[in-house]
Amino acid sequence: MYSQITDFIHQLFNTEETVPLHAPLFIGNEKKYLNECIDTTFVSSVGKFVDRFEEEIAAYTKAKKAVVCVSGTNALHMAMMLVGVKRNDEVLTQALTFIATCNAISYIGAHPIFIDVDMETLGLSPKAVKKWLEKNAEVKNNVCYNKKTGRRIKACVPMHTFGHPIKIDELVLICNEWHIELVEDAAESIGSLYKGQHTGTFGKVGAISFNGNKTITTGGGGMLLFQDKELGNLAKHLTTQAKIPHRWAFVHDHIGYNYRMPNINAALGCAQLENLDRYIEKKRETAAIYTEFFKNITDITFFTEPENSRSNYWLNAVILKDKAAQQKFLEYTNDHGIMTRPVWELMNHLEMFKDCETDGLKNTEWLADRIVNIPSSVRLKA
Ligand SMILES: *Cc1c(COP(=O)(O)O)cnc(C)c1O
Repeated sequence: MYSQITDFIHQLFNTEETVPLHAPLFIGNEKKYLNECIDTTFVSSVGKFVDRFEEEIAAYTKAKKAVVCVSGTNALHMAMMLVGVKRNDEVLTQALTFIATCNAISYIGAHPIFIDVDMETLGLSPKAVKKWLEKNAEVKNNVCYNKKTGRRIKACVPMHTFGHPIKIDELVLICNEWHIELVEDAAESIGSLYKGQHTGTFGKVGAISFNGNKTITTGGGGMLLFQDKELGNLAKHLTTQAKIPHRWAFVHDHIGYNYRMPNINAALGCAQLENLDRYIEKKRETAAIYTEFFKNITDITFFTEPENSRSNYWLNAVILKDKAAQQKFLEYTNDHGIMTRPVWELMNHLEMFKDCETDGLKNTEWLADRIVNIPSSVRLKA
């Protein structure tokens, strides 16, 4: 039965060779803009593409301000600092995520608490968050505490898994009620909308990634999104070594970071952004084809976008019958020229996070045994 699937995917991507999971695509002004950087010598921390990329992403996402970073991971690290997460605070997040989410929390010396995901979004479940808080947390003087550990619960970081938006409006209300700062890990969800609004613009800060395997890439890079312009300005200051602007003097007023994306990467980003809507349209077309195809395959379900949302379908996913089927599917497809992979090893299974508190993670564990990502690159030909 699996041969039917591998044949179909080879045909879909129009190749006999190995089909990658997600390859970058450069069909626009990439070379032109990169040449401009080299010809003008502005390849590094000064140059017009950085400002342009920030302005264009802000316009695209309708954020009040966007600030570039060197990676999505350090965008998340900066986001944690900006909302005031401190050493020994606790941060609610999902175990079904890429390691960067938890690394950013750990850089500060804060502790993740893993809450379950929703089956219909694959992302953090507002209901599960509410339930956990009601059982385990209390608010005193507008500060949320974990009753068991006595630690402050400062922030909540949902992740829009594979580009599918979570029920973010529900989570906003819960975080407000419990005095918890909301940071969105929108690393995978550029172009994904929830009720018409761009993911990453619901929380106090949102973080996008432009790593090579994401929907659009700057080689490596990230972006912070803000609704609060002042906070965005502070982010710009902190990501550029906290240097007080002056024509020649080097004076700094804070411990700063060298987190600014170089102009050469921003140039690539500007060119990629020009094609983003086209890429997403194509990715959604591919997802629709997969949806139809998997309707006729027993015991495999193609995961489709949740209600109220428009997903970028960054990585397509199927849900297998059980763990044994998942392992067999992974082996067959990878043996037959189709790159597939299971979802990331759950964070609570990793050595660094194995002692972190969880809510039981019922859906999370069920899904991790069954999810497989299948090829998702932008297909230009219909
Ligand atoms: C890609 C990704 C990031 C950021 O990764 P970088 O490689 O540092 O840009 C963060 N969180 C998630 C969920 C991701 O998929």
